[in-house]
Amino acid sequence: SPSSSLVIIVGAGISGISAAKALAENGVEDLLILEATDRIGGRIRKEEFAGLNVETGAGWIQGVGGKEPNPVWDLASKSGLRTCYSDYSNARFNIYDQSGKIFPSAVAADSYKRAVESAIRELRNQEANLDGISSILEPPMVPKTPIELAIDFILHDFEMAEVEPIATYTDLGEREFLVADERGYEHLLYKMAESFLRSSQGEIVDSRLKVNKVVREVHYSRNGVSLKTEDNCVYNAKYVILSVSVGVLQSDLITFSPPLPKWKTEAISKLDVIVYTKIFLKFPYKFWPCGPGTEFFLYAHEKRGYYTFWQYIQDKAFTHDPGHQLSRSGLHMENAYPGSNILVVTLTNEESKRVESQSEEETLREAMGALRDMFGPQVPDACDILVPKWWNNRFQRCSYSNYPMLASQLDFRDVKAHVGPIFFTGEHTHERFNGYVHGGYLSGIDTSKALLEAMMMGEEDENEEDEEE
Ligand code: FAD
Repeated sequence: SPSSSLVIIVGAGISGISAAKALAENGVEDLLILEATDRIGGRIRKEEFAGLNVETGAGWIQGVGGKEPNPVWDLASKSGLRTCYSDYSNARFNIYDQSGKIFPSAVAADSYKRAVESAIRELRNQEANLDGISSILEPPMVPKTPIELAIDFILHDFEMAEVEPIATYTDLGEREFLVADERGYEHLLYKMAESFLRSSQGEIVDSRLKVNKVVREVHYSRNGVSLKTEDNCVYNAKYVILSVSVGVLQSDLITFSPPLPKWKTEAISKLDVIVYTKIFLKFPYKFWPCGPGTEFFLYAHEKRGYYTFWQYIQDKAFTHDPGHQLSRSGLHMENAYPGSNILVVTLTNEESKRVESQSEEETLREAMGALRDMFGPQVPDACDILVPKWWNNRFQRCSYSNYPMLASQLDFRDVKAHVGPIFFTGEHTHERFNGYVHGGYLSGIDTSKALLEAMMMGEEDENEEDEEE
């Protein structure tokens, strides 16, 4: 007979775990978590590469040191996660052209300034159009040269904060920390899970967490939900919290009966999905410049986003000292990987999709071409490569969500709103911090609150019905 619970949570990423924890803390113990993969963590994920654990998903804790505390920073401190200070804004001063020359910093600074001004003009023009006024400012600059394209890429795909205020930085602070811990960013999730699920020797053994359970069908009515998984199991509950990514919601992995209402599917389809890929390359030795201010560098190519953004994993050991976590000195990009000789190149969107669909040999060949342009023909071959696939992963179909620049309050509300007994959570449902780990974490808490309220209302209704009888 099908199992039955009060609440089923679909997905064991940070939002699902955070929602389940908040429910458990509020006395809802009759819950079940169904996760498609064989692990918790979702888009927080470590993978072994060249003898190390690297973060193929989220790598940074972003937004630290501001007027509001970042809850993920607090969790990281509590769970003793090792982090190091990181500042990728200096990447714009290490821009290589295809002949290996670095653009003079005055040229780079000027290009950067013009790109920011242009992006601001574009935003203002869009706002004017929305108000029915025809464009008031001169049209934005179209980036054409390799340096303009490289800067356009880091500005729009990494640093929009200088154009448009982003709540993560304005409210939580401008600092960013890279997680550099062999136990992985996901250690933080295990610590959370352990606080309400039974564990033994570092593993969650609670039967309320079921892995390798791919939810394919959601049948729902006023009285509850019935979920069917790929292995033909049926799970019934009064309520369900769906924490799958917006990419999954836009795909046909899960069917709903009755179908979700139009207001819901339209709001979901309005969201952009961003694909963000970190490719790891292992070398026999270092051939790139090391030292403060060189951790990030850019490759300027005539194709936008073509192996543009590089970083190296530094090898000076640094033990995270929570007492000094906010002082800049000595913390810059130092981490726990001695002699790693690893470079990371980040691709996004169309380039990510292109690379995901080709062989690793082809990707390696392209990456080596970019490196030899920058550092010369003597650059040694990489001995290993790791190309994570977020787009072609049917349990993700994206790296994170993005609301179009002028999205309305209504869109946010509709993405998040529940449909009968189906509640939605995940980074994409968080109005202020969508796209980030802390957005996922906070959305889980928000959704569990909304569900607890609905439960109370439901009880009131039932009591009223009882009285009527
Ligand atoms: P997820 O982690 O995706 O959790 C959803 C879970 O649902 C997954 O475990 C999935 O397997 C499961 N699932 C899916 N379909 C089904 C199904 N049908 N049945 C059962 N289970 C299912 N954020 C930052 O703050 N800083 C960063 O530096 C950063 N960098 C990033 C880099 C990359 C490459 C990526 C991919 C993301 C990055 N992010 C970063 C974003 C951050 O990782 C996410 O916002 C956050 O982890 C999302 O958590 P979530 O719980 O909403 O979703």
